[in-house]
Amino acid sequence: MKAMLKRILGKGCASLGFARLADRLGPGRFTVLMFHRIVDGPTLRASANAPLMLEEGLFRDMAETLASECRCLPLTEAMAWAGTDGASVRPVVALTFDDGYGDFRDKAFPILRRFGLPATMYLPTGFLDEEDRFFWWDAVEAFFSSRPEKGRFDAAGLPAAFADAVFALAVDPGPDKVEAFIRGPLRRLAPRDRARFVDRLAPPPVRRPAMLDWDAVRELAATGLVEFGAHGVTHPLLDEVDLEPALQEVATSKRRIEEETGRTVTSFAYPSGCVPPYHRQMLARAGIGLAVTTRFGGNGAATDPLLLRRVDARLCLAGETFDPSYFLAVCSGCLDWLHGTKEA
Ligand SMILES: [Zn+2]
Repeated sequence: MKAMLKRILGKGCASLGFARLADRLGPGRFTVLMFHRIVDGPTLRASANAPLMLEEGLFRDMAETLASECRCLPLTEAMAWAGTDGASVRPVVALTFDDGYGDFRDKAFPILRRFGLPATMYLPTGFLDEEDRFFWWDAVEAFFSSRPEKGRFDAAGLPAAFADAVFALAVDPGPDKVEAFIRGPLRRLAPRDRARFVDRLAPPPVRRPAMLDWDAVRELAATGLVEFGAHGVTHPLLDEVDLEPALQEVATSKRRIEEETGRTVTSFAYPSGCVPPYHRQMLARAGIGLAVTTRFGGNGAATDPLLLRRVDARLCLAGETFDPSYFLAVCSGCLDWLHGTKEA
């Protein structure tokens, strides 16, 4: 949607009153915002993974509006509020961050603390425990930004069309092209082929972006503003994994966080939003009562707590700028009809 149209819609909703509009959507409605990385402008502009990033100035503007115009609750409290009280004159919002990148501590948390905003961070614990473990999208970005020689890539055993896409990238590895490759051919590759491909790409000295370490996790947990949720050990796409190994992933990531923080983990984020058909059984056995997806929309008392919807914070921008009215219109649910069931 065009930025101009978003601003007009935001103004219209503001003049009608967000609270009145939200109230018509039913009591107990809350929005879960989804973030990944908060970074500076040059990092964002140079990255092939910009869809996972929000520029820190925009995040600060968002946080200021959340603090003054919304009621921000930890996710567990937002769900409890929806089921018991459910009344609020301000939009109720819970903030979530996925994947455990180090910029959460350096960029996001100082802003959260300044405005007193609680948040949940979902940790793929294997990435904190093993320094050479890469997300596949980071491995691909690091590899191609090093301007690899064609001969450095071993295509043996991979589909010919995929190998062609890789060779094309090696010749012209602009961030946009790498981004399209990550979201297209690489995402569609069979899981075993994808793992094999990434393993070949990411030997040292290619460095991954900094992740949180356990000292930082304990410090953040001790502030009382940040709760941690499970996100698997290896960030597996669960629709490609059977129940028993998936359960191991969930239970182990939950246990590792509990060992390190001394706090019970109650929520889970499906890696890359993939909900497997056995999700209920898996989460019941792991002792998880809340789970967030990447399905777009708001939540209420009647929402399945194992299939909570979220809104990608980047969708709340008007183009590349922050417009408070449009942001509040999305957070209060006034524009749910516009987005339909679009995946974030
Ligand atoms: Zn993730």
